Amino acid sequence: MTKKLLSLISLLLALLLLCSCAELTNLNNSSSTDEQSDISNAESGREESESAPVEGELRVHFLDVGQGDSIFIELPNGECMLIDASEREYANRIISFIDCLGYTKIDHLVATHPHADHIGGMETVISHFELGEVYMPEAVTDTKTFINLLEALDKKGAQITAVTAGLEVDFGGASGKFVAPSLIVDDMNNCSAVLHLSFGNRAFLLTGDAEIDEEGTIEGDISCDVLKAGHHGSRTSSGEYLLSKANPEIVVISCGEGNSYGHPHKEALDRFADKGIKSIYRTDISGTVSITTNGTELEIKEQVAIGAHRWVLNISSKKVHTADCGGAVDMKEANKAYSQRSLSELTELGYALCSTCKPKE
Ligand SMILES: [Zn+2]
Ligand SMILES: [Zn+2]
Ligand SMILES: [Zn+2]
Repeated sequence: MTKKLLSLISLLLALLLLCSCAELTNLNNSSSTDEQSDISNAESGREESESAPVEGELRVHFLDVGQGDSIFIELPNGECMLIDASEREYANRIISFIDCLGYTKIDHLVATHPHADHIGGMETVISHFELGEVYMPEAVTDTKTFINLLEALDKKGAQITAVTAGLEVDFGGASGKFVAPSLIVDDMNNCSAVLHLSFGNRAFLLTGDAEIDEEGTIEGDISCDVLKAGHHGSRTSSGEYLLSKANPEIVVISCGEGNSYGHPHKEALDRFADKGIKSIYRTDISGTVSITTNGTELEIKEQVAIGAHRWVLNISSKKVHTADCGGAVDMKEANKAYSQRSLSELTELGYALCSTCKPKE
């Protein structure tokens, strides 16, 4: 096991190193255009600058996954993206959410940093979907959760790109720019991949568990409409420097009801109030918070309910049931997921039809 673990970690490091070299070359090539756009932004001011009209919608769902983080994003071109997958026990909830929206592939996966409340559910989620590109910082650890993630990625033959400040990616028609981490430190929260995602004139800043130390390393334009507060609304995140630069109108805090850390902390909430931010959404109060934009308007919905599901899945025994089957009713919550997929798609995923309820299209 130890040997396998070591070889997996070295494989990952080798992959990440290869990728960062490639990214560095890209960055050098694009640096002159970056400077130009900074200047034009500074002259016109972000508020007034009108981007070219965009087509489609960007939908960002801050999932209700207890004291963890998971953000599912529907991209303008029909692709999708998952940032973090909370603790393992919430994997089925994440699978249900994505399945019920009709996606069979996670085109872009981001693991912000290797803590269990962000990557705990990844192994289960990854095994359920087709997988596209994977983005993670060069922070590694030897926890079982992290090794499980590496093994799941290895099984899928996933392509991993190292995230460092300055990496720009077109995410299905939305412009992504990772603005941190610029260095890897011992405290994994401060290695979080921080993503500035913009579409038309609207932007989101998604911070993982970045704390004030890492916030201080962020350079360039990070002005946004929506800020996902770092580290579940902890007092050690959302500092004055970040809030002044980001200048959000809306803050979303992902935290669990009655969590033992006392998140969100009063000090962070006070800083939001001092900045005049009135719209604060918390997943412990609102449930899943979904924000949709067409590039101009923002629409916010709380406790997003997904349309009626067709099937109940047992993600452990890999069985498909009808909703009223005894096998579905008695199923342990930890194994239960919901799906709108066709039975043939589920069969392809390795699911077998329950012989008692005999699901039929
Ligand atoms: Zn963390
Ligand atoms: Zn966390
Ligand atoms: Zn059944």
